[in-house]
Amino acid sequence: MSKQILEQLTSMSRFLGQPEHHLAILGEGNTSARIDDAHFYIKASGTTLQTIQNTDFLCVRMEPVLSLLDNPSATDEDVIQTLQSAKTDVHDKRMPSVETILHAVLYQYPQYMFIGHTHPIFVNSILCSQKAEEYIQGRTCPDHIVVLGRKSVFVPYVDPGLTLARVVRDKVKEFIASEGFLPKAIFMENHGLIAMGPSPSKVQAITCMAEKCAKIVVGSAVCGGPKFLSDAAVRRIDTRPDEHYRQKLL
Ligand SMILES: [Zn+2]
Repeated sequence: MSKQILEQLTSMSRFLGQPEHHLAILGEGNTSARIDDAHFYIKASGTTLQTIQNTDFLCVRMEPVLSLLDNPSATDEDVIQTLQSAKTDVHDKRMPSVETILHAVLYQYPQYMFIGHTHPIFVNSILCSQKAEEYIQGRTCPDHIVVLGRKSVFVPYVDPGLTLARVVRDKVKEFIASEGFLPKAIFMENHGLIAMGPSPSKVQAITCMAEKCAKIVVGSAVCGGPKFLSDAAVRRIDTRPDEHYRQKLL
């Protein structure tokens, strides 16, 4: 079972790392997969998504990683030590990705089985702009809503690693309380995208659609600026039975 998960994770990661998708270069981005409620695979720090192998993932335990979140005095050194000791193979010298804590936070929601974090060019064109939140939350067309949902989580820039994981934990909790559904994507200002889903194909679809719609928004700037769908139109698409059917097929 876990071998199959690892193979799915490797092929999803390679897809996200393909140069023509413009989602990540060099050691950028990280990916993971839930094994069970207590363990997940995460990309080893510094490995490249495009050429990643099954052996480039580390199996880590959730519990020690999550314990960092509620330790207000945790230092950078504590984070490194904890990430190293959370590996099921403690003799492995490699370091889990710096965003391992963030992935552990998201795996507290059992619906998430795979996670892909990337730095897409057009998504980041928006996230590194003056209109980051407004332009990334705007919905451009029905497919945008079908694949990404009517709204996503937006996270203002904070220090990557432990601080970011704490903010993501709070923002996702607030999002679910106010919107009543699990987010499919998290957009981090001056940083990038996280796509979460029950399967690799969902994570890939969310990532590609986010990048395509970001490209449309950036392109619309030369045609007078984006015209987003109204709240009423967004809600209508989100609740139409035929769109739910399309969502399932995707
Ligand atoms: Zn990143």
